[in-house]
Amino acid sequence: MAGIDYVELNTLKDFYALMAASREVRARAVAAVLAGESIDPDIPTSLANVLASLEGVPEEGGRKRLALDRGRTIGLDMGYEIDETRKDLFYLEEGEETFLEMLSDYHPGFDEFVAGGRELLGGADLRCLVTDRDGTVNNYCARYLTSIQSVYNAVFLSRFARKVESPVILTSAPLDGLVAISVNPEGAFHYAASKGRECLDRAGRLRRLAIPPEKQAAMDRLNEELARLTERPEYEKFTLIGSGLQFKFGQSTVARQDINTSIDPAESESFLAVLESLVAGLDPDARNFRMEDTGLDVEIILTVEAEGEGLKDFDKGDGVKFLDDELGLNLAGGACLVCGDTGSDVPMLEAALTRSPDARAIFVTRNNDLRERVAGLTGSALVVPEPDMLVTILGTL
Ligand SMILES: [Mg+2]
Repeated sequence: MAGIDYVELNTLKDFYALMAASREVRARAVAAVLAGESIDPDIPTSLANVLASLEGVPEEGGRKRLALDRGRTIGLDMGYEIDETRKDLFYLEEGEETFLEMLSDYHPGFDEFVAGGRELLGGADLRCLVTDRDGTVNNYCARYLTSIQSVYNAVFLSRFARKVESPVILTSAPLDGLVAISVNPEGAFHYAASKGRECLDRAGRLRRLAIPPEKQAAMDRLNEELARLTERPEYEKFTLIGSGLQFKFGQSTVARQDINTSIDPAESESFLAVLESLVAGLDPDARNFRMEDTGLDVEIILTVEAEGEGLKDFDKGDGVKFLDDELGLNLAGGACLVCGDTGSDVPMLEAALTRSPDARAIFVTRNNDLRERVAGLTGSALVVPEPDMLVTILGTL
């Protein structure tokens, strides 16, 4: 199989292509590690070339600069891509034990948090795992499509997945692209996306929560308008930062800012106002859509008719209930583990607690309000500050 050579990255497209190629190499490494086989020597060579290529991109004001198209350039934070490649090289060359020592040296409290996780999960006969991806079991990346899962991460998660009947990764991101950035062996996880409204199950079957035709028609019109709006030169930049423009199943996301504040705050605010008036125009009685603004992303979510609750926006708790029925997670039948890193993941835990006799939680956050919210729901919860800690708990249980 072809390895990866050093490339001079000039355009954003070059960068995306290199990261996509690194997925194939990483997947081979994961397969070998999980099978207990030795690693093809071209794999570390390829990853070293990926690292050198990324590091070789010229930096300006702390950002890597690449060409966008004729005459325009964009400044990017490549921290995730560079760090994870470095860690993968270290993992493959030095072995797991030394790698874990490195993580422990790097993150204060690492050993204590990992021990806490073992205590929480040790002895539990876990039937299922439902976990968010970004910021929870995957380190944060500035862009979804280049957030290629790292080798050590896939090895640790897949090892845990083998121990439970139903391992589910549940993200609010679209299904489109999720498999392309994942390095876990095929069939290791159910991949649920769009907050659980759509799922590629372990057997490769696509499952979707039906959306009533009139609601889908409203969604299609919204997406057409969003596409038209963001084609305008003054708004095009919003498709190129952070989450960009994402059409999900039952939900669309438009970035109005990224974690580096690449957009002038006043411009970001006025773009939000433009989006609000677009949605108000399409849905004057607020029957079809709810808007959620995270400050970075604007989510426009199709409402659902919930029993006894009237119209509400679909959350990840609704996703868990749908998947429990659709995939036969059998939450009612035993213990489960729910993992997340933001307030939007809390409904997953709430849903699991209503159905499972023994739901446990590990959240990754430094936010005290979120910590208290989780602790208020169950005593069987642990909060850790870093995704790598959670991944290590799962991988070394
Ligand atoms: Mg997250």
